[in-house]
This record gives sequence, structure tokens and C-alpha cells, in this order.
Amino acid sequence: MRKKVIAGNWKMNNDLSQSVNLISEIKNAVAGNAVNAEIIVCPPFISLETASALVKGTNIKLGAQNMYFEENGAYTGEISASMLKSVGCDYVILGHSERRAIFGETDEIINKKNKKALSADLLPIFCVGETLEQRENDITKKVIEDQVRKGLSGISEEEIKSIIIAYEPVWAIGTGKTATPQQAQDVHEFIRNLIKEMYSSKIAENIIIQYGGSVKPDNAETLLSQPDIDGALVGGACLKADSFFEIIKSA
Ligand code: PEP
Repeated sequence: MRKKVIAGNWKMNNDLSQSVNLISEIKNAVAGNAVNAEIIVCPPFISLETASALVKGTNIKLGAQNMYFEENGAYTGEISASMLKSVGCDYVILGHSERRAIFGETDEIINKKNKKALSADLLPIFCVGETLEQRENDITKKVIEDQVRKGLSGISEEEIKSIIIAYEPVWAIGTGKTATPQQAQDVHEFIRNLIKEMYSSKIAENIIIQYGGSVKPDNAETLLSQPDIDGALVGGACLKADSFFEIIKSA
């Protein structure tokens, strides 16, 4: 049986002291309760090292929100996979729709990032998702297939075991519009079948596919009870410890 994985993408929110407060509150909430899910927090780069010290010895894992695919060198403003490892990250979110839309990341760039992260022992949370226009034009599955195939191009059977896929319909991110559990399940099932075709049944059965897009305490349970939804990538609702913890409890 697949475990549920709940990740919080803080985006560009919280300075260092706010990060310390939020991590401490999440830690306290989780500590007193039996939790069944894997929990990942993804604060901004500046808080990673401090966050790493705070979550040490707990069941909360640390992730970054982005990285560059080169090892080091003249890439002003960028952060490498090994730098993220050095401050205690286990995960990195790659291909988020905000990176694709605002920062012009292509499938090819995201593919290079996935490969680089894997080679540094960082586990990618690889995001895919269609826009509203694509959904209305009935090309959701084609778009998702394209993103999955290109993003995973050249990634081996051994490596794919370390990747989490996050299905995040762009029209549902930060908008308050959630995909219905059935809409989300349909795409998750499609992605799992695609992974089966690209790799094997065993890999498809085991791969974690998270849903992201306005997940909140009041919709988490129905989404997470779908057979192919293995967790959530949470934006807005992860910025308050109590709502993030409610979602964790739903898992
Ligand atoms: C996200 O940024 O990955 C996300 C899903 O955001 P929100 O939960 O705010 O829609």
C-alpha cells in the first residue's frame, strides 16, 4: 500500500523568524498526535538551514522549492542540488506551474533539473498540470502526457522510484477552485497508467502521485480518499499550522 505524502509549498512567504514560528507550530501539532503520512515542508531558501535544525529528529522532512541543474559556477542567483543537500533537504519541488509560467521553465529544463536532483540524491516532487484553456479545449490528457514524458525523459526504472509526481491543475492553484475528486482521480489514474506504459506495473503501483490546487481542510479528505491520490501538495493552506495539520490528519 502506498503511503500518503503531504507537502507544504510556502512559496515566497515568511522571513526567517516567521519561518521559525511556523515550523515550531507544525512540529508541536505533529508531536502530540499519531500521524500516518509523510510530512514535507518547503520554506524559502533563506530558512532551509534553520528549518533543518528544527525538524531534526522529527518525522517532518525538508524540501526546497526550486534548484538549478548545473553543479556550480557562473549562474548568479541560482542554487544547486548539492547546496540543498548540504543544508539538509531531502526533497525539491521541480516544474511548479509558477516556475513554468512566470520564469519560463520548459519541459527540457525541468527534465534536466529532475535528472540533476536524482544524481545528488534529492527526491524531486515533479509537478505537471493543465491550464484552464487547455482543459476547456479538452486536451488535458495530451498536455499531461507531454509534460510527464518530457520531464521524465532518460530517467531510468531505478531512478523513477525516487520521484513523486504532483498533479496540479493550473486553474486550481491559489484560486480557491479545486478539481472535483473525480476530475482529479481521472487524471491521477491516467498518469499512473502512463507510468505503467513507460516503466512497469510495479513501478506504477508504487509511485506517489500527489494532488495540488486549493487543497484545504474541508476538501482534503474526499480528495485523499480517491484510489490514485496519494497525498497533497499544499500552497495557501500550509501557511497556518492548524490548517496544514488538519490536512495531514485527513491523510
Ligand atoms: C501550490 O502552489 O502548489 C498550490 C497547490 O497552491 P494552493 O494550495 O494555494 O492552490
